[in-house]
Amino acid sequence: MSQLPATEPRPFLINGKWISNPEDAFDSVNPASGELNYRVSVATSKHVEDAVAAARTAAAQPAWKDMLPHVRAQILMRIAALIVERGDELAKCQMIENGKVWKECKAQAGSAAATFRYYAAVCETLTSEVTPSRGNYLTMTSYEPYGVVAAITPWNSPLTMEAQKVAPALAAGNAVILKPSEVTPSAALLLGEIALQAGLPPGILNVLTGNGATTGKALVQHPGVRMVSFTGGTASGRAIGMMAAERLIPVALELGGKSPHIVFEDANLDAAVENIIGGIFEGSGQSCVAGSRLFVQRSVHDKLLDLLIERSRAIKVGAPTETDSEMGPVSSFAHRSRIEQFIESATAEGGKVLLGGKRPEGIEFERGAYFLPTILGGLDNQATAVREEIFGPVLCVLPFDDEADLIKQANDSAFGLASGIWTANYQRAWRVARALETGLVWINTYKQLSISTPFGGFKDSGIGREKGASGLRLYQQSKGIYWSMDAANFPAS
Ligand code: NAD
Repeated sequence: MSQLPATEPRPFLINGKWISNPEDAFDSVNPASGELNYRVSVATSKHVEDAVAAARTAAAQPAWKDMLPHVRAQILMRIAALIVERGDELAKCQMIENGKVWKECKAQAGSAAATFRYYAAVCETLTSEVTPSRGNYLTMTSYEPYGVVAAITPWNSPLTMEAQKVAPALAAGNAVILKPSEVTPSAALLLGEIALQAGLPPGILNVLTGNGATTGKALVQHPGVRMVSFTGGTASGRAIGMMAAERLIPVALELGGKSPHIVFEDANLDAAVENIIGGIFEGSGQSCVAGSRLFVQRSVHDKLLDLLIERSRAIKVGAPTETDSEMGPVSSFAHRSRIEQFIESATAEGGKVLLGGKRPEGIEFERGAYFLPTILGGLDNQATAVREEIFGPVLCVLPFDDEADLIKQANDSAFGLASGIWTANYQRAWRVARALETGLVWINTYKQLSISTPFGGFKDSGIGREKGASGLRLYQQSKGIYWSMDAANFPAS
């Protein structure tokens, strides 16, 4: 793949072969400079057909179907090792396509390798159950792959999201068709190359590039796809859920968020401020778990806000390639325009821009999709900027009076992905953590993630849980087996 002439659109991967589509290709643009990175081939519905056929055949081959878990684990470990070896290439793919800073891209490449190592270990060690029987028979549960799994991913963190789907789906014994975002196609293509290099049989991991409405939709609707694992926006997730319901196939949906980050008056304000900043401005706010609604107890509201504004003003916005840049551009020029519309709606609804709210000035920012860290105040919980996922570096700050008021406001959201609580009172921390309608709660910390802990959302933030040992079971269906031990039922010898 990497040896292609620059004029050819980048090919996608079906059955171990690289296929280019010169008739239909899309642009990959660097959001830090506005320059064309390369063109990428679009996989048509005919290519989807070919990929599903290849994946079905490969999944049914004894070479994969009967591969023992400890051998499958060795392939996953080799993939992990190659991800480490080619970490810079992977990080660069992501950096030039979504504009995240180099440090974050490198960390995410490391995390992708760790995910493959983790699922290698789970693959080799996960056991099934012998359950209490009600007669003279053995009752057990075995877990089997679905066959062909479609994995569809967003642009904000392709390195981690793709590993998070591909590693457990392969560990579970499936063949996978990976459809990355049209904004970030290359990390998935490189992962496909690495998987082949690691000895994964051809056809077990296929990578199709193209947009959601055509390539993605054709994939979800294909009768040969038996399970869909999706991460992306809530509207796309709902559309995919509906298609899957028609076909009666399972889906896992990791969707958007509008996570409340909560500071009580007894909190360590310095530590809270550091984490609030990391929670919303890291990755230019393009994180599903971004703490984008900040609730501060009224008695410390002004003090915390002063600290927050002062420290946020010092964030170094700059080119993703610069080692001291803390925030790069947002992922595309269209996405920046969308963020700007939210700022307009916020001021029209009575909000005040307390910091940022515009593009940075200076020649070095002119060609990229940069936007300043932004803090909005004066909005209530019903304002558009507070209710909708902006997915950019925009923090809305709201005061609250007491615990009851806080819980009411924090839960008054369509989303339920994550939340954070800052307090010195451990009983309150526990009460509030239990009362919040979110799939993740951080107490006196924020955005800590571990591959061993299940991850997913309540309400419109999704269905199903990725990560953890149970994340492998997401890609398997259970089978109950009843095996008689009654000698009378054996043929007479
Ligand atoms: P998106 O929904 O626009 O696209 C995600 C993927 O789905 C892309 O590959 C796209 O091509 C594909 N797609 C879109 N419509 C489709 C359809 N009808 N059928 C099949 N495929 C389709 O999301 P995005 O803009 O790439 O990513 C940002 C969103 O992802 C945000 O809402 C963010 O919160 C969410 N996200 C969630 C998590 C999580 O774990 N909960 C993690 C990261 C991002």
